Amino acid sequence: MNQRRYFLASLGLVSLAAVTASWRSLVEEEKILAVQSDVNKQTEKDIDVQQDREIKDQLYRVRNFDQDLKQDIFLSAAEQPVFQKVLTRMGKIQAHAGYANFSLMSFDEMLKYARRYSAIEGFAVDEIQFMEKVFFHDANEYGFRGEKVVSSLTEQVNKKDIIKIPGSGNYLFKDASLAVYQRLKKDIGESLVLTSGIRSIVKQMYLFLDKTRKSNGNLSRASRSLAPPGHSYHALGDFDVGKRDFGVLNFTEKFAQTDEYKKLTELGYVSIRYTRSNYFGVRYEPWHIKVI
Ligand SMILES: [Zn+2]
Repeated sequence: MNQRRYFLASLGLVSLAAVTASWRSLVEEEKILAVQSDVNKQTEKDIDVQQDREIKDQLYRVRNFDQDLKQDIFLSAAEQPVFQKVLTRMGKIQAHAGYANFSLMSFDEMLKYARRYSAIEGFAVDEIQFMEKVFFHDANEYGFRGEKVVSSLTEQVNKKDIIKIPGSGNYLFKDASLAVYQRLKKDIGESLVLTSGIRSIVKQMYLFLDKTRKSNGNLSRASRSLAPPGHSYHALGDFDVGKRDFGVLNFTEKFAQTDEYKKLTELGYVSIRYTRSNYFGVRYEPWHIKVI
């Protein structure tokens, strides 16, 4: 064998097939190519099988969103006390500032707000660190496959760009969101209501932590019902609608049986963010209007 080629092969710079090529007949060479092609096909098949399995797993999670599943990630016991402290303090702030104001509050505004009122008191260092950890954690680990749409913890909603929707306690962006909402109201009627509009990082964090509490510390299970902070399109313009006087049922599959939903699907210009078989690992949300 050519010594230089052997040297290069030992470095992985030329393939072994090339090193030994001069020894082989053309027939043998073809045999090797056929084997390599089989190897490639097998690799492709393996990738397909893996992707199929991944899709099946995601669909299983979506259908069984409200159960504890294998590989779910839980809050550690050590984190429980700080988790409870953060949740309680955020709850106090929402009650004190009001639902609508809280839905727009930025992280810095929240820290300041807490310090200002003795009934609330400022967040302790470990509480701030906990909230930072929740925000910057890779949500993929929970099984959540949606993208991160806001990367800054201190992102602020520009008050000039938004409008409060009368009677709803929610805000919408004046651009595309408001236009879609007004068109929906016109086409479906007064029985269609806005149930959730713009949500700041703080608001989304509170909802996610509260859902984690209801899920007994199961972060994965919480993420199947609520996008982790930074991953919600409510920060960018998506909103939720419901049927007037339908209460919490607006956030269940029962909403899909209402006339309001039926009309919604017939309009043609709206789409639902999380469909029955979505790949994001999020429950079916017939009420969530995709704007972005
Ligand atoms: Zn929503």
